[in-house]
Amino acid sequence: RQAAYAKLRDVEPFTRCGTRIQVMMNAGLREDISNLNLVGADGIGLFRTEFQFLVSATLPQREKQLRLYRDVMDAAGDRPVIFRTVDIGGDKAVPYLNSENTEDEENPAMGWRALRLALERGGLLKAQARALLEAASGRTLYVMFPMISEPWEFDAAKAVFEEQLAYLKKQRKTLPEAIHYGAMLEVPALAEVLDLLIPKLSFLSVGTNDLTQFLFAADRANPKLAERYDWLSPAILRFMRRIAQATVGQQVDLGVCGEMGGRQLEALALMGLGFRRLSITPVSVGPIKELVRQIDLAEITEAMNGWLTNPPENMRDTLQQWALDRGI
Ligand code: PEP
Ligand code: MG
Repeated sequence: RQAAYAKLRDVEPFTRCGTRIQVMMNAGLREDISNLNLVGADGIGLFRTEFQFLVSATLPQREKQLRLYRDVMDAAGDRPVIFRTVDIGGDKAVPYLNSENTEDEENPAMGWRALRLALERGGLLKAQARALLEAASGRTLYVMFPMISEPWEFDAAKAVFEEQLAYLKKQRKTLPEAIHYGAMLEVPALAEVLDLLIPKLSFLSVGTNDLTQFLFAADRANPKLAERYDWLSPAILRFMRRIAQATVGQQVDLGVCGEMGGRQLEALALMGLGFRRLSITPVSVGPIKELVRQIDLAEITEAMNGWLTNPPENMRDTLQQWALDRGI
């Protein structure tokens, strides 16, 4: 496996038609960072900050958070790291919040989690904001908010960061050189109001794991439902197309950070829908970079348009055949 990584590490993901696709990786632990060089990813498109919270018996202190964030940015060097603010609660329960948390929730994935929890537990988000801003002193910070369903949630979360920024400024600390704020799109309702949200954003990242479970009302953690829907179903692909179309001509950087982007046919489909940034599990980075080099965007875009207008009986088989015909 190491040898396979090494072979693909230096592959530059340009399509046949010359477009550079960003192939980033997902991470969450200090130990994951070494993968960045091992697989040759363009950066970390999703750093799940809740991992530190999940493995800790008590709420991680701000200093401890700061050290982790700084180490991650040090290791990434010039490559961007997108830090997602905590996505705890719901199915990612932590013992020290449990007294008011999830035990009684019937639908924890749709419950009091992520930004919903973080905005109410303001102290928690403030501490995280300060840790991130201090860790990014003198460099560029990318922050992303999870589980946004309405634009005001983005405003409220950003305001917490801006307040901490003002505080650090008053303290005459070295501030980040630039801050890019982004949102995850994983709640379907957000797609209906994207025109209102996009002007506020620097980037938008589609979390296909949660998005698809909500679209199909099918629990992502229940193995009995694993075969219930396909990421290549017309419903999901049309939904993804809609999101991509909403960003056309806008100053927003669009990407995908769910598992969907790490699979060959799914990645192919996403590129055909207009996605140019994929953040995926490290093992998939090499294979997806290889895939990118074999495709022509105009060709797959045209094919996808046709299939989404008139969906074939089995989209997966159709895409597979299309790829085989081209030696992909
Ligand atoms: C997602 O929902 O697609 C996502 C990337 O976040 P997580 O898997 O951590 O919920
Ligand atoms: Mg999610």
